[in-house]
Amino acid sequence: MANKDASICAKAGSLCGNSAFSGKALWQTSVYDFESLEDINSARYVYRRYGSPNSDELAKAVALLEGAQQGLATTSGMGALVAAILSICKAGDHILAQFDCYGVSREFLEIDAPRFGIKTQFIDVHNVQTLEFALKNSVIQRETVNGSTLPAENNKNNIIVFLESVTNPCVRVADLQSISTVCKMYGAFLIVDNTFPTPLKIKPLKQGADMVIHSVTKFLGGHSDLVAGVLVGSSHHIELASKLAGRWGLIAAPFDSWLATKGITTLQVRMERALSTTAELARRILCSSIPRKLNWTPDCAMMSIELPGGLDGASRALSSFKMIKFAPSLGGTTTTVSHPVSTSHKSVPPAEREAMGITDGMIRLSIGLEDVEDIWIDIERGLFAAAATEKTSDC
Ligand SMILES: *Cc1c(COP(=O)(O)O)cnc(C)c1O
Repeated sequence: MANKDASICAKAGSLCGNSAFSGKALWQTSVYDFESLEDINSARYVYRRYGSPNSDELAKAVALLEGAQQGLATTSGMGALVAAILSICKAGDHILAQFDCYGVSREFLEIDAPRFGIKTQFIDVHNVQTLEFALKNSVIQRETVNGSTLPAENNKNNIIVFLESVTNPCVRVADLQSISTVCKMYGAFLIVDNTFPTPLKIKPLKQGADMVIHSVTKFLGGHSDLVAGVLVGSSHHIELASKLAGRWGLIAAPFDSWLATKGITTLQVRMERALSTTAELARRILCSSIPRKLNWTPDCAMMSIELPGGLDGASRALSSFKMIKFAPSLGGTTTTVSHPVSTSHKSVPPAEREAMGITDGMIRLSIGLEDVEDIWIDIERGLFAAAATEKTSDC
């Protein structure tokens, strides 16, 4: 059995015990037929809403890479978060979420979750002192619901902590070991969105997280041709999430799952290349004479640059790029740029955006597989364009 990451990746699509090549088939069907009642009663695949061989292959590949007991492939990264939260939480539970998490994750937790009686609070979960203070307060609130201490453990409201292992767009890396230790002290359940680094760079379950979610749409799929997600964790939690996802229609489609497992077969080599290009670009940006602030980490192929000239500087840089495309996604084969203030963080009030460190002059780059020299030509052009005055750029 393959157990090293590169070997798991290479075998993605045929990890569920099928022979290597038949396992790569696409089961593009909504329903299966049966010989007998016994047959249907013992069948894993009956009707596609409950899963297909392809969604199981996708779930298995990510579960193995994350070192999880089990996985569930979902319609999207958002589907994974929704399945995770709705299968664990009940009315009265309290979610402490990272304040600068992915915009739509934040909207789900802010708009939808409270309608089911789930309370959400947005804090800087990455800051262990802030987290511990908030956990202490939730525990106090929890134990004095209706003015009395709740009697039995299973009547207690749960506390769920949600964060991204690497934040967007400031690429801050979470100290998962310390965060999970504090969560355990207060009996909180830790869910980590591990989309940015992929399990090849960070494995949150091994550092004490309880559940991990992914937007497979990004680096795992890797070709900007599908939308899917995965959640992984203990068999107990994934069984609950799978049942919920079957009822709510959240399970990944066969075609997207099939594309995703093909994408994962090359994940290891794509990441190796994108990460070495990212490190080289970071080195060159830091050597540049143009005043700028760079956010980057060796753990993911994402970086953000605070350009001179604020909004105008960012706008001039974006228009100056020739090869790098302006696209509001990430993790594909080509290098793309986005402007967080106008896209992913548009709905965040300016004061809060500032607290997150997201400025008008910030652009975010997702580093692809092109030659580093070609990417550099564009980035350097962008840096100069941002630094140029309006007048010069008009000439
Ligand atoms: C894109 C993204 C999501 C949502 O995933 P979808 O597949 O678009 O639903 C969640 N978290 C992060 C960090 C993302 O980048």
